[in-house]
Amino acid sequence: MKSVSKRDKRWAILGGTFDPVHIGHLRIAVQLRDLGFEQVLLIPNHVPPHRPQPQASGSQRLAMLELACARLDGICTSSIELERDDLSYSAITVEALHDLYPDVGFTWVMGQDAWQGFEHWHKPGELLDQANLLVISRPGVRNVSHWQEQQLEQRECNIDELLADDAGRICLHHWPELDVSASDLRRAIKQGDNVTFLTPDAVLEYIDQQQLYR
Ligand code: ATP
Repeated sequence: MKSVSKRDKRWAILGGTFDPVHIGHLRIAVQLRDLGFEQVLLIPNHVPPHRPQPQASGSQRLAMLELACARLDGICTSSIELERDDLSYSAITVEALHDLYPDVGFTWVMGQDAWQGFEHWHKPGELLDQANLLVISRPGVRNVSHWQEQQLEQRECNIDELLADDAGRICLHHWPELDVSASDLRRAIKQGDNVTFLTPDAVLEYIDQQQLYR
């Protein structure tokens, strides 16, 4: 695939439920900055009523994210999906972000578990028309479907090639894997376990103050 870049800046997007944000998310965000992304956007999704609901509300999930990245240079939150009442389709989010930031090339970042289900997302091809995809290794997930094999044959690249392109590339990236998830964290809080260092202290204080995950 030939590199054609029309946009000057490189931003990464990590979307998710963030119920709550944890060090797995935050390590990804800081490492994305080290790779060369100028800005990392953490975007909590609006969860539609017919799906399992997060335990924390949209505004609580956003508040926890804001506390978590308050002192992290180049890492910030966006409420763009919470402000929309419809489903949180990533392709629609990136289209809206392109309108707001026409000189930015976006890379949508996801863990390997999310990549497993990516072909069932709403119009995955449309998202790839508008953004690159960076898949981060995560403990315990390894299968590759036929659809994924086909996509990788056409689009797979290394991180430098991904950074040189505006859209359409897929990079599978390995960092030391952190076996931590929001479900584990919720379970541990409910059980009264010590969860220090699994998320920043400011987030733990907020969880305590709001009596979340009890
Ligand atoms: P839950 O346990 O509730 O499903 P989660 O820990 O997977 O939550 P999400 O908010 O759903 O957190 O994740 C947002 C994005 O971050 C997803 O793409 C997910 O794959 C990725 N992610 C979360 N934790 C990790 C981790 N430890 N390593 C790599 N990727 C991760």
